[in-house]
Amino acid sequence: MGHRVFPVVGWAERGDGRAEGHGNSVPRFHITWGTGPGVVAPFERRVREHVDAGRIRFAFRHRVDELVLEGGAVVGVRGATLEPSGVDRGRPSSRVETGDFELRGQAVIVTSGGIGGNHDLVRRSWPERLGTPPATMVSGVPAHVDGRMLGISEAAGARIINPDRMWHYVEGLRNWDPIWDNHGIRILPGPSSLWLDATGKRLPAPYFPGFDTLGTLRHLRTTGHDYSWFVLTQKIIEKEFALSGSEQNPDLTGKDVKLLLSRVKAGAPGPVEAFKRHGADFVVADTLAELVAGMNRVGEPGLIEEAPLRRLIEQRDRELDNTYSKDAQVTAIRGARNYRGDKLIRVATPHRLLDPKAGPLIAVRLNILTRKTLGGLETDLSGRCLTAGGDPLPGLYAAGEVNGFGGGGMHGYNALEGTFLGGCLFSGRTAGRAAAAACL
Ligand SMILES: Cc1cc2nc3c(=O)[nH]c(=O)nc-3n(C[C@H](O)[C@H](O)[C@H](O)COP(=O)(O)OP(=O)(O)OC[C@H]3O[C@@H](n4cnc5c(N)ncnc54)[C@H](O)[C@@H]3O)c2cc1C
Repeated sequence: MGHRVFPVVGWAERGDGRAEGHGNSVPRFHITWGTGPGVVAPFERRVREHVDAGRIRFAFRHRVDELVLEGGAVVGVRGATLEPSGVDRGRPSSRVETGDFELRGQAVIVTSGGIGGNHDLVRRSWPERLGTPPATMVSGVPAHVDGRMLGISEAAGARIINPDRMWHYVEGLRNWDPIWDNHGIRILPGPSSLWLDATGKRLPAPYFPGFDTLGTLRHLRTTGHDYSWFVLTQKIIEKEFALSGSEQNPDLTGKDVKLLLSRVKAGAPGPVEAFKRHGADFVVADTLAELVAGMNRVGEPGLIEEAPLRRLIEQRDRELDNTYSKDAQVTAIRGARNYRGDKLIRVATPHRLLDPKAGPLIAVRLNILTRKTLGGLETDLSGRCLTAGGDPLPGLYAAGEVNGFGGGGMHGYNALEGTFLGGCLFSGRTAGRAAAAACL
């Protein structure tokens, strides 16, 4: 296909601390050289060849509102055309309708994505096992990820399965330069930041940065607040904060080796520095007293007290005096550095958080960030949508995030971080081949 990957393999989602539990027991998070645009490019090239040959027609600004049913089979789609829209960055595009359209075919494949841009639907689908749904979240997906096609497909006879299976991150930042409304950026954190709830209590083991996303989310939902805190140092942010998204990784996206090499030098990458300077969730301070004042300004007033936080940090810092430790996070940091990739670019040398040489101190308010959908339209292994009775609904297929990559999540509920795109591509190929075979 022409994809190349960055040679250092990331070790995300290490799990809940049990060898037999969920999570990645080895590093397996590959970054495409060129990030998202690099993944898309070879596919786009092929699709454009078909467009040039007259076999594919794009229909931009066409919004599907209904599936056309005839004789119990899906035979097409209906909807509205929307006016052209060249809005500025961060503004919603126009929804003004200019007309209707109907398109017919021997098969319809729904590939409309998940539900993370529709927070009401996320809250309605929220599972009891994760506590109460948050009142406030940031959007880790664009507004078009609205879950609308689920209801539209259901109205045509398709069945929805496991709608409560979602994967939302707990390290969301409010983007200071948003592309869409309420745009959140996820931190892919190294293991060293101290993780506190909104009142300043340390999260229990094994809820360390990068370990157990859903377990941490479940714990945070018991705290009565929609956000939590990382407390760290300049030394940690420089090595351990990676931000998700192609725009936040200009070196990898632009395939710029010189810029990439600057990651191993002192100083945080440019996009991280920009968040530190402009981001609404960041507090940077030379003293703990100033840090606490800032946290009480950015979070709910008066929730963080300096004395208990100082005690907590000093207790943690004391554990660095020996190469052994009773602090599970300190042990985990040292363990991570035994993996060469982490030691090189992901895990800071263990140090005292209150060491002025590692400073300034930084606190980051972390919001819950909607991202991935694992339930959706139930399909069989050929991507055919199933009805409530379990039979295929003639003419209708689904692929990608709208059907949890094949009816319930190809990679299981814990989703093995970073494997969504692969499942989307694979289920798309499966559904496409099945639809083509049925049309012959
Ligand atoms: C910032 C970010 C980082 C990510 N990082 C990773 C990662 O590192 N690894 C990984 O594996 N996954 C990652 N993901 C997840 C992955 O990108 C998605 O799971 C995947 O792109 C979903 O593909 P899809 O084709 O199913 O849906 P989408 O890419 O969401 O496409 C759905 C399309 O359907 C259109 N549509 C929806 N409704 C209608 C309608 N009614 N009428 C007409 N058109 C409609 C939308 O406009 C859109 O073009 C990331 C996602 C985001 C947002």
